Amino acid sequence: MSEIAFIGLGNMGGPMAANLVEAGHTVRGFDVVKEAQDKAAASGVEIAATAEDAVAGAEFVFTSLPNGALVTQVLDAILSAHPEPRLYIDLSTISVAEARELATKVNQAGSGFLDAPVSGGIAGAAAGTLAFMVGGEAEDVAKARPLLEVLGKSITHCGDHGNGQAVKACNNMILAVHQIVLAEAMVLGERLGLQPQAFFDVVSNATGNSWALSVNAPVPGLVENSPANRDFAPGFAAALMLKDLRLAMQAAEDTSTATVLGAIAAEQYAAFVDEGHGGLDFSAIINDVRAKKEKK
Ligand code: NAD
Repeated sequence: MSEIAFIGLGNMGGPMAANLVEAGHTVRGFDVVKEAQDKAAASGVEIAATAEDAVAGAEFVFTSLPNGALVTQVLDAILSAHPEPRLYIDLSTISVAEARELATKVNQAGSGFLDAPVSGGIAGAAAGTLAFMVGGEAEDVAKARPLLEVLGKSITHCGDHGNGQAVKACNNMILAVHQIVLAEAMVLGERLGLQPQAFFDVVSNATGNSWALSVNAPVPGLVENSPANRDFAPGFAAALMLKDLRLAMQAAEDTSTATVLGAIAAEQYAAFVDEGHGGLDFSAIINDVRAKKEKK
C-alpha cells in the first residue's frame, strides 16, 4: 500500500482521493476550501494543514486543481519544502506548454512527473471509471498504473511529457465542434418537419453519428441519461468546455496550426458562457442555435 498526497479535493479530486482510501492506501489531502476538506475527511482522507504538510513522506503526489497557474504554484511550494524524489501525477486539465514546463522543473529537482488529465466527469470519478491520457516516461507510467487503475478503467500512455494534455485538447475540440454542428442539424431537421426520433434513428446508425448524438443528444427523450432529459444539468458544464477550447486554441497558436472550426466553437462557447449558461451541460448550445434563428 502506498503513501499518497492528494492536493485539490474538489468535484473530481474528492471522489478520486476517496477511492484511493477505499483501495487501502494512506491518503493525506489538502484543499483551500473547508467544505472540500470536510467531505474528504468523511471518506477517510487525512487532512493536512498545507499542501507541503500533506506531501511529507509521500511516495506519490496527485494534483487535481482548476488551472496550470495553481498547479505550478502548489508544486513550486512543495518542491522547495520537500525536495526528496517522488512521483508527481497531475490530473488537472492544463496547457501542454505548462505541463512540459512542470515536467522539466520536477525532473530537474530529481522527481518524476506525469500529466494525466482525465475524461469521464464527476460520475466517472466517483465510480472509478475515468479514462486517463498520460504523458511522461514509461517507467513512471508503470509506477503510477496500479493507482490509476483504482481510479479509472482505461489508462493510455500517449508518449512524452505534455502528450496527455495534447490529446485531451484535441479530443475536446472535436467534441465541441460535433456538439455544435449536431445542434445545427437537429434544429434544421425540426424546421424541415422532421421528428427528432426519426433524425436520431437514422443519423445514429449512419455516417453522421457521434458521441454528441448517441450519448449526449441535446433533445429530451432520445437517449436515457442525456443531460437534455434533466434541463441540461451537467454532464460536462459549458464553462469547462470553454476552458478546454481555450487550451486547444493556445496550443494551435503555439504550433501555428489552422483550427478554423475549433476557433468558431471557442467563440460560440465563450458567448454562451457570457450569457450566463456556463453551468449548463455543453449540449445546451442547441438553445443558442434556436435563439439565433428566432432573431432573424
Ligand atoms: P473543482 O473546482 O471542483 O476542484 C478544484 C479544487 O482545487 C477545489 O476544491 C479548490 O478549492 C481546490 N484548490 C484551488 N486552489 C488550491 C490550492 N492552492 N491548494 C489546494 N487546493 C486548491 O474542479 P474539478 O471539477 O474537480 O476539476 C479539477 C480539474 O479536473 C480541472 O483542471 C478540470 O478542468 C479537470 N476536469 C474536470 C472535469 C469535470 O467534469 N469536473 C472533467 C475532466 C477534467
